[in-house]
Amino acid sequence: MGSWDELCILCGACPEGGPHDLLHPEGIDDYARQLADEIDPYNDDLFDTIRNALKYSIPQKTLLFRAEWLPNGMGSRQYCSDVCVALGYFGKDEGTVPRDRDGIPDGRNVQVRRVTDSSSGDFERVLQETVVQNEDVSAGDESAEEDEVSGEESFEASKLDLYSMCAVAHGSPNIWLHERCYHYMQSWIDWQSLPRFIALPSSGEELSFAGELYEIANSRKQTRDSDTTLLPCVDYDGIEATLEQWQDRFAPARRGTKYLARALHEGLQGKDLFPALLKDFRAWMFMRPDIWPKPLEAIDTTATTVFTTLPINPISAIPLIDTLPNELLLLILRELPLPSLLALSSTCRSLRALITEPSFMDCVLKEAILRGSLKWILPVSSYKDEVQSCYESLRLWHPAVSESCQSDGDLIDESDLNALLVSPQLPRIAFVRACWESDSMMNRKRLWGLVKQFEAVWRSYRLHGWEVDRFYPSAEILDTLQIVQ
Ligand SMILES: [Zn+2]
Repeated sequence: MGSWDELCILCGACPEGGPHDLLHPEGIDDYARQLADEIDPYNDDLFDTIRNALKYSIPQKTLLFRAEWLPNGMGSRQYCSDVCVALGYFGKDEGTVPRDRDGIPDGRNVQVRRVTDSSSGDFERVLQETVVQNEDVSAGDESAEEDEVSGEESFEASKLDLYSMCAVAHGSPNIWLHERCYHYMQSWIDWQSLPRFIALPSSGEELSFAGELYEIANSRKQTRDSDTTLLPCVDYDGIEATLEQWQDRFAPARRGTKYLARALHEGLQGKDLFPALLKDFRAWMFMRPDIWPKPLEAIDTTATTVFTTLPINPISAIPLIDTLPNELLLLILRELPLPSLLALSSTCRSLRALITEPSFMDCVLKEAILRGSLKWILPVSSYKDEVQSCYESLRLWHPAVSESCQSDGDLIDESDLNALLVSPQLPRIAFVRACWESDSMMNRKRLWGLVKQFEAVWRSYRLHGWEVDRFYPSAEILDTLQIVQ
């Protein structure tokens, strides 16, 4: 079938980051009919209006085309860098896994490669970083991709023409993730809460993170799906529907017509319908997850409440939870997902008064961000640029800090960031609400949820080991591998 896309085992996007078209040009008439019928089958004008809008989505294709309606942070080269991480075994024979008898190697000697130039689930090049002395950097090596100065030394990245086979379609047990997804998985799994590995069948030696992930992906009863290339034990929330040989179009991920119907009702037409179409097509799942929201207007730090207060009947019973000491209550409430917290506040007036009291709500949100259900808002320190990017956004929420603190370009560490996050001047309620309205942050939250699903599978693997034994000892094939430092 020529070429095709395969999907990142964590986020479900292809290496380039997902679709860049709404739908296939030849499908516009049928799709417009389907949308019009779903919204109002008796309104003859709807079909034309929707069809005209969809026609605008077809970009003038040039070599490096990018549709002007595609939001920033979405589409090729904007979702992520083109670097992925491949895990597994890469033999001297074209980067394939040395298969032996009827099994695959176990996870004990899994190799980790930074790879690039994807091709139908495989990768054509490996990134290699070497340390060089500073004076050598100015010599201008043609193969240098990036230089990162670090004291007296810098890192020079070069690409090696080495093939890394990961394609599910070729039956490879190797797996790959976007580099960012790899860091998210390492950082967001709560390793403290997982049991030590007790089910290793033979030696009892501990595996690396990559080794365990490789074994998890290959030891499930249901192996990776040959159509979606994803793990059946993980719920990817429908993103896999966008893989139709290639992951080029948003339309297959659509759920309903709520936003389109509302926009049509408001009289919008043509390109003005695009934001609504993208919402119904759930394009936010393909938005890069590291753009922290900026305040739309100057922050009024005196405006603290967004909740209406309701009178409380003094003789009504106080709910039991309301009688707990505040410290204990905070410990419980910080773990609740935000929608559940708000749902709890709607159960009775007494709880509503407690939870929506601005300073208490502020405390709950602060705890939830630092240690609870909103931890996904924090940047991942191991991933380049996240701390800086989050800090720059938070500064804007905090006018006093914005003027007095670090200027652009200064190196930020986590203590600077935490100082901003816990600062009483940060309008936390408004900031969290803005996160909820941000496609980028909602995708970040989605990725956090996926990592938590992997955490549950990881726990089961640590407790019970392989669901199915498909392995032979990897030590048997070590001398047949390509080793890249
Ligand atoms: Zn990914």
